[in-house]
Amino acid sequence: MSDLTLQDWVARAQSLTIEGRAFIDGAYVDAADGNTRPTQNPATGEVLAQVASCGPVDSDRAVASAKAVFEAGTWSNLAPAERKKVMVRWAELIEANAEELALLESLDVGKPISDTLNVDVPAAARTIRWSGEAIDKFYDQVAPTPHDTLALVTRLPLGVVAAIVPWNFPFSTTAWKIAPAIATGNSVVLKPASNTPLTALRVAGLAKEAGLPDGVLQVLPGPGGSLGSHLAKHMDVEGLTFTGSTPVGKMLMGYAGESNLKRTFLELGGKSPNIVFADANLEKAAAMAATAVFYNGGQTCTAGTRLLVQRSIHDEFMAKVIEHAQGWMPGNPLDPATSMGPMVDEAQYNTVAEYVRIGCDEGATLAFGGKRVEVTAGGYYHEPTIFTGANNQMRIAQEEIFGPVMTVIPFDTEAEAIAIANDSIFGLAGAVWSRDINVAHRVAKAVRVGTMGINNYFGGDMTVPFGGFKQSGNGRDKSMHAFDDYTELKTTWVEFD
Ligand code: NAD
Repeated sequence: MSDLTLQDWVARAQSLTIEGRAFIDGAYVDAADGNTRPTQNPATGEVLAQVASCGPVDSDRAVASAKAVFEAGTWSNLAPAERKKVMVRWAELIEANAEELALLESLDVGKPISDTLNVDVPAAARTIRWSGEAIDKFYDQVAPTPHDTLALVTRLPLGVVAAIVPWNFPFSTTAWKIAPAIATGNSVVLKPASNTPLTALRVAGLAKEAGLPDGVLQVLPGPGGSLGSHLAKHMDVEGLTFTGSTPVGKMLMGYAGESNLKRTFLELGGKSPNIVFADANLEKAAAMAATAVFYNGGQTCTAGTRLLVQRSIHDEFMAKVIEHAQGWMPGNPLDPATSMGPMVDEAQYNTVAEYVRIGCDEGATLAFGGKRVEVTAGGYYHEPTIFTGANNQMRIAQEEIFGPVMTVIPFDTEAEAIAIANDSIFGLAGAVWSRDINVAHRVAKAVRVGTMGINNYFGGDMTVPFGGFKQSGNGRDKSMHAFDDYTELKTTWVEFD
């Protein structure tokens, strides 16, 4: 915990040095054509920094450097125990610079400083340390073959991996990608979201300081359409790891097919069901129902945006949820007391406002919120918002809004709850609340999602895999299962004379 006040953070923000250049081949450089793009503070709309806007020339240069270092074996053939040392040092440097990184992330994304300091930055450090520490304990296999043979099943890194990440958890999703990719010996070219590049640029410099060889991690800020697609189609990129929206994920699968069938792993959108039965601990469930949607302003892929409530407790339960929603009114992200900041930019604010209009037009009841809030001049703040009386066919129940908007759907029976939960193109996360172990486990098993909570929401840590079913993606971040996405299996079959 930090005892810095709002005034302290504002003062630090004013004297912060922001690196906006790309990181290629171990050095900060301008884009080849000198192009830049401003990155804005969503709390004020002010320009924070001019950031390099890279294009295909920069991307070719970064991929060539990543490929050269991979082929030289400087990192890819380094003993796992040596790779571990560098990654642990890197995690320590992140921790040593935690306040600066947290401030950068808050300014760039609009996230509350208490979240960036206590959640995002520690999560990124832990991911890098955990992956480094795991890599020298990760054994390959000997297959159960006939006695005059020996069959080795070994894992080899892919080569150059392109990582493309979104703006909602820029630092932690970056770590989820680069840590297992680098631990397993790959070289990475990272493209942060064009509106939130700052912590990724800073962490690349820390990686160099920790001893990561030049070319193993490069960061190219720039637009998705031109730079991202160029990387995704690149013939020297062997792996593509992506977190972002489902439509862009589908395009990336296409690019891989058009080019070299690079291994492509996607973490995409969600519309996650949070199912509350009448026998649940209603106090805890109500508090978490609000957290599940309003945390990070609802800009969370796993947000529990569809709240399914058993009809017999609906009114009593929703009164409690609305009480908790009042605790999520937006505030200045640099105030340590703030729980929810602004939307990341004007476009995202407009999307949220448009869905509030759609929900009203569809006939749902606006039970709480729904309006813009003025916290700091120029900021894109939206109230926590709750629609009751919805059904699962409405657009506000089917489409990912990516804002602080909860859609509440009543149900009567367990079978009905499961059917509603599964009636979605997505399958990322969900939760069930019940004191009956049979109901809880039956429902948890039947709901087709990658992560399901029982009597909690947002449960999980670095030890468990994270990813989606259906159109929420493939592949898995976190845990040793993440290593599968960044390695090829090789069989070596030996016969004895
Ligand atoms: P987005 O898909 O618009 O952008 C993600 C990244 O892809 C950005 O870096 C963007 O520049 C890049 N991009 C855009 N078009 C591209 C193209 N044609 N080719 C290559 N790259 C391209 O997503 P966003 O708006 O930044 O993030 C929000 C989305 O991310 C939501 O759908 C959310 O659910 C999802 N998300 C998923 C997870 C998960 O783990 N499943 C986690 C966080 C966010």
